[in-house]
Amino acid sequence: MVIKHAEFVVSNSDVSKCPKSRLPEYAFIGRSNVGKSSLINMLTNRKSLAKTSGKPGKTQLINHFLINKNWHLVDLPGYGYARVSKSAKKVFQKFITQYFSLREQLVTAFILVDIRHKPQPIDLEFMQWLGDNGIPFSIIFTKADKLKPKAIENHIEDYKNIMLETWEAMPNYFVTSSTKNIGQTELLNYIEGLNENMNLDSSE
Ligand code: GDP
Repeated sequence: MVIKHAEFVVSNSDVSKCPKSRLPEYAFIGRSNVGKSSLINMLTNRKSLAKTSGKPGKTQLINHFLINKNWHLVDLPGYGYARVSKSAKKVFQKFITQYFSLREQLVTAFILVDIRHKPQPIDLEFMQWLGDNGIPFSIIFTKADKLKPKAIENHIEDYKNIMLETWEAMPNYFVTSSTKNIGQTELLNYIEGLNENMNLDSSE
């Protein structure tokens, strides 16, 4: 898929106010600083569609972007930011769980993890929650340019081994780098394939 059109639609703190349209949507989420904004900008070939490295933990909003006028890319707030208070974490949790529980348009979530790090409890817990709630997701490994190819392989292998302690199979995953433009085609083709399947389903 080539992205010809990408526009910001709306930011919300209330899931019920998100766009009513039935367009398929894809949500991007991960720990603060994982490279989510950079990845969204890389995917859409825009310099600053998503805001990079503002004040992490501050923008607790659900951001909808309309892509090629036929699907929504959703930028969810970064989680796991140490400096936010306990009460802020609770509000955040509620709002994220509501998003995932209520958004019927959601086709799949993408959980971003920094390829250099060992699986973090917060990511594993979040994936477990998605799994328990039947919400499909893929993992996006970010910042692959920071490691050599062999180290990438090793890190993914370690990640797989830890996932396989609780999962029957390693979830679908992508290796990306926003600075080196790695993974863009694979991710966009994946989304395009899912969009096509949805169109087939609805025309039956
Ligand atoms: P967000 O908080 O998850 O939205 O993360 P940002 O996109 O703002 O990125 C956080 C930091 O990581 C910034 O300093 C980026 O320049 C850097 N970064 C993001 N993606 C990459 C990448 O693919 N490679 C490298 N080397 N740095 C990256």
